[in-house]
Amino acid sequence: MIAERPGPDDSTTVVRPRLTVVSGPSGVGKSSVLAEVRRMAPDLYFSVSATTRSPRPGEVDGTHYHFVDRDWFQRMIDSGEILEHAEYAGNHYGTPRAPVLAALDSGRPAVLEIELQGARLVREAMPEARLVMLMPPSWEVLVDRLTGRGTEDAAVVERRLQVAREELAAAEEFDHHVVNADVRQAAADLVNLMVGPAARTTAAPTTAAPSRD
Ligand code: 5GP
Repeated sequence: MIAERPGPDDSTTVVRPRLTVVSGPSGVGKSSVLAEVRRMAPDLYFSVSATTRSPRPGEVDGTHYHFVDRDWFQRMIDSGEILEHAEYAGNHYGTPRAPVLAALDSGRPAVLEIELQGARLVREAMPEARLVMLMPPSWEVLVDRLTGRGTEDAAVVERRLQVAREELAAAEEFDHHVVNADVRQAAADLVNLMVGPAARTTAAPTTAAPSRD
């Protein structure tokens, strides 16, 4: 399900922005949905971020992230190589600028999967970027997904829920909301936004953030 905000005019054809930023709260299923997007649209360029966090089991340097130390990260910022960066859960994350611009210049739509602060910075730096928030079908579903594993301690879960609340509260800043009730459907909705026919720009109600009661 996609909800669109009204565009700046009511024309029915628009030039599709080719840079898409996907954000969403922890537990919403971003990795599964984006893995499906990769299968459906292998020609998209997926940005590989730099991060100071340690690799998790199975993560490959250069594929999942560029794993760098803090000095290296800072040098990338100082030399202007980073398009946006943010701190998340005590680690630094940033988008290398050159590969994204190279993909766009070659006509390849590009996708960034980043958190809220980074999405805001991309909006400032590249106002033509399209911002998409992946939403849970309801707040209750997100709570279930974040607490369901039962392996984390209560304080960690509560912290994640707090961050998720903050992220969902910013949903109105995003151009589109894609609800992840079904991974394949959510991926198809995203692919349609990234490479499909030009979006409607006529007003449609924007999905409200799920109730947090
Ligand atoms: P994780 O450590 O779980 O892979 O990612 C933690 C958070 O960092 C996720 O919300 C992810 O979207 C975000 N993230 C990953 N790469 C970047 C980046 O380059 N910039 C920003 N701002 N956030 C990122």
